[in-house]
Amino acid sequence: MRMVVKVAGALLEGPETVRSIARQVAQLAQEGHELLVVHGGGKLFTATLKRLGIESRFVAGLRVTDRPTRDVAVMVMGGLLNKRLAAAVSEAGVQAVGVCAGDAACFLAEPMVHDEVTGSLGFVGYLTGVNVEFLETLWRAGIVPVASCLGLGSDGELYNINADHMAAACAEYVHAERLIYLTDVAGVLDGKKVLKAISTEEVEDLIRQNKVSGGMVLKLEACKRALAGGVRQVRIVGGASPRGLLSAANGGKGPGTRVTPMNHAVAGAVQ
Ligand code: ADP
Ligand code: MG
Repeated sequence: MRMVVKVAGALLEGPETVRSIARQVAQLAQEGHELLVVHGGGKLFTATLKRLGIESRFVAGLRVTDRPTRDVAVMVMGGLLNKRLAAAVSEAGVQAVGVCAGDAACFLAEPMVHDEVTGSLGFVGYLTGVNVEFLETLWRAGIVPVASCLGLGSDGELYNINADHMAAACAEYVHAERLIYLTDVAGVLDGKKVLKAISTEEVEDLIRQNKVSGGMVLKLEACKRALAGGVRQVRIVGGASPRGLLSAANGGKGPGTRVTPMNHAVAGAVQ
């Protein structure tokens, strides 16, 4: 089965978690699944900007990615984190290759439009194309592609892409059957309770009621997009739980929160 697995940047900071996720990715690949792993940047990106003395400017809560900031994004996401995760999967027994933006022109991007101005957020983009043939060559050779959340623009520049949206768009481009988000919380929470399943209609209510905020809003929007784009199963799972990815990949009730295209009572019945 073809699956896209998005790994939160925050999960790449602890070596034990990286090893655990890498082992599960390797096991799924050994079982014959075609996996595309997409990862984000987490706190390391912000921390590295700080270390290098690069100040961030925000517009409506979004970081303006000027050239120096973009360069750090490439260093951290396309460099350290990407190599760390690809190495861990390779070490777990299945060859993995880090793929970043222009490598084999694998992930293409265009600048985001913000307040009707293209590129006003700097080098922030959205995914506009995937070299699916290249990914299929890797899968046929038994290699797991590990993608950083960066894309190559038609202007030859590299663009930073929100990793949740990139994973959803990738799932659509490669016609993945499953999209699994490994994140730093156990799923979508209503207070302390993990919601087992939510429908795309319920997502709007949760946002309106301020029950979800911040990064989770973006993630749920990305889930909706993937479902609308034909991905059959979308799930948000805590990446720190030891077998979280394996049980999510095996479908069924599984851990975390399943996001469904219709009322989940109905979705549960057809599962
Ligand atoms: P990721 O790195 O996985 O993309 P994000 O930080 O973008 O993570 O989104 C996950 C975060 O969203 C959680 O760590 C949490 O702080 C926040 N969040 C806001 N509302 C909720 C909610 N209802 N359930 C779970 N997480 C939530
Ligand atoms: Mg996020």
